[in-house]
Parts: sequence; structure tokens; C-alpha cells
Amino acid sequence: MINPTQINDSVMQRFSRLMANHRLAHAYLLVGPKDSGKTQTALSLAQMVNCESESPKPCGECTACRKIISGNHPDVHVIGNDETESIKIEDIRFLLSRAHLMAYEAKTKVFIIRDIELMTLEAANALLKTLEEPEANTLMILTTSVPEIVLDTIKSRCHTVKFFSSSVNRITQLLIDEGVKDQDAHFLAFYSEGCMGKTRKLIKQEIISRRHKVLDEMLLNRNNDSFLKDLSADPQEAVQALRLLLSFFRDVLLLKCGVSITELAHQDCLKEMEKFAARGFEDLSLIIRQIVQAKELVDENLNVRMSLSLLREHIWGN
Ligand SMILES: [Zn+2]
Repeated sequence: MINPTQINDSVMQRFSRLMANHRLAHAYLLVGPKDSGKTQTALSLAQMVNCESESPKPCGECTACRKIISGNHPDVHVIGNDETESIKIEDIRFLLSRAHLMAYEAKTKVFIIRDIELMTLEAANALLKTLEEPEANTLMILTTSVPEIVLDTIKSRCHTVKFFSSSVNRITQLLIDEGVKDQDAHFLAFYSEGCMGKTRKLIKQEIISRRHKVLDEMLLNRNNDSFLKDLSADPQEAVQALRLLLSFFRDVLLLKCGVSITELAHQDCLKEMEKFAARGFEDLSLIIRQIVQAKELVDENLNVRMSLSLLREHIWGN
């Protein structure tokens, strides 16, 4: 399904100009943070090259557009997912077999390969051949959030398109229009670094109520033994809590350095932040180091209970 709020408009305008000038390449590598709308934009591009209406393309209404939206177009394929599973040689073999065939009904066959950093070496080598000798009327769109680990040989055969997060202000406004409280909308937009996809994920994970709980327990309640015990028993909860704390203390440091409150994710906690900002840099970096260390322990599946207690002591100034 295509979610229009996640399509990157400026990238689409660029593709639209290229298509109007008959200058679309046969392979693109979309590079951008996770959940920044790369797949949605790739699907929108698949629609644009196959749209049956005169203009504007994609119309979203014609048969081709609708089939692509519903994932039922026989010539538009999405390979790979956002799980950690790698893209295997069989996936690429399937792609190659399709790429060689005549299109069923599309003007341009489109292959979208998501998160290509997860591709096995064997699969990458098979894909390279297709990129070197492109089939006519075939468009390959690869996506990645970690271009550093994508093979240079693949990168050099694709045109790279960089995605930047949609603006934090735009997301804040969008969420407010949807009925989210002002301060929560502001936090969500900042905490997701301006990625709408990430914002939606965070809302699903009930990040707002978790944030209140974590900040209340860690900053206002010194007798939080049972909270720490629950956290140590649940690695996922622990990681999320530690991330929230890290972003809070990052804000404290920025505030201390004179950054405007409107630029901070936790702007609704000004009183608490000012209290901590009054402490020394060394003291604050110690807290931040403690949070990072605790997160490393959770990542390594080690017991985090002692580290969380230590962190509490640092936060309370002991
Ligand atoms: Zn259309």
C-alpha cells in the first residue's frame, strides 16, 4: 500500500523532470534514514513510469496506478523487507528470470530491492550482472539506509538519490492536524528525527506514555526499585527506556550550551532540564556514559540491573 504522507515530494519532482526529458536512468539507489519513505517513493516512481493518464503522473486512478497501489501489478516487484533477513540468491534469480521476460502489461518493468545492505555476496554478484547489462524497459530501484556497507561495484552502477527527513515542523503540524496534543506532536517529530515512517512506528509503540513513565520513574522517583526490576527483565523495554533517557540528557547538554528550547525534543520538561543543566559538564557526561554502557549490556544480553541502579545514583547526584 502506498502512504502518500511518506512519499518524498522533492525526489518525485526530480524524477518527474527527468522523465519529461527522457533522461530517467535504468537503476537508482535511494539512500536515506530508515523509515524516511524510500519504498513509498520507489512505488510512486513505479506508478509514474507506468501511469496511463496524460498528466499529472502518477494519477493514482488508472488501472496501472491502482494495481501498483494494491501490490497486484504483475510487472512491479518488491524484494526484501525491513526485517533483518538477508536478500538471498534465490530472490535475485527470481528477479533475473522476470527481468528477461516480456512485460505482461507494463510499459516499464520495475524491481524494487529494499535494504540491499542485507544482500548476500552471492546475490549481490548476480544482481551486478543485471546492472551491467540492463534490459530494455526495466527500472531497478534499490534502497539502503547504510550506503557505507553497500558494495562499491553496485553503487557505481546506480544513480544515487539522497533522502533527507521531511521537516520536523511539517510533521509536527501534520500530527496536530490529526489531533495529537501540541507538546506530544513536537516530541514525536523531534524524536523521530523528522521521519514520518518512524513517527508512525513510535505512535504504535505507545512511546508517549512510555516516555512519561520513564522520565517520572528515573527523574522524579528515587524509590523506583520495582521499575528497574521490570526493566532489567525486559530487554526491549530497557533499550527503549535508555534511548529516551539518552535523548533527554542530550537535550540537557544542548540547553546548557545555549541551544533554544524550541530545538529540543523534551521542551515540555524545561523545569527538569534546567535543574540538570545546572550541574557540571563532567557530571552530565558521566550520566550519558552510564546510559550508553547500560544499553551495551542489554545489547549483549547481559544483566543490566546493577548498571541501572548505578545510573539512578548518578542521576540523583550520588
Ligand atoms: Zn495513473
